[in-house]
Amino acid sequence: MKGFRYLDNTAILRLSEEKCIGCGSCELVCPHRIFRVRHGKASITDHNRCMECGACAKNCPADAIYVNPDDGCGCAAYIINSWLAGIRGKPPSGCGC
Ligand code: SF4
Ligand code: SF4
Repeated sequence: MKGFRYLDNTAILRLSEEKCIGCGSCELVCPHRIFRVRHGKASITDHNRCMECGACAKNCPADAIYVNPDDGCGCAAYIINSWLAGIRGKPPSGCGC
């Protein structure tokens, strides 16, 4: 799903650079490669690619990441429909929720 993006400015993903200890776990576990760790600190490279799976928060030893799928708007139907529409050369049609 290279190039996949979610709805703009909707993902509930927060990173505390103050708490981050630069371990690199978030960079490894994120399926969309959203984090980059440079000079001992993580940063979010593209917030709108987050699908709120929660893997980064679960694997952060410093409790520096917050993502709450229960309150978020992560919608698998939207993700899959957008991906299929892209393959078919059509605009995204929404999720149907
Ligand atoms: S919630 Fe999932 S997709 Fe979003 S930044 Fe974390 S690991 Fe990546
Ligand atoms: S997993 Fe947490 S502590 Fe490790 S680099 Fe990412 S934000 Fe920083």
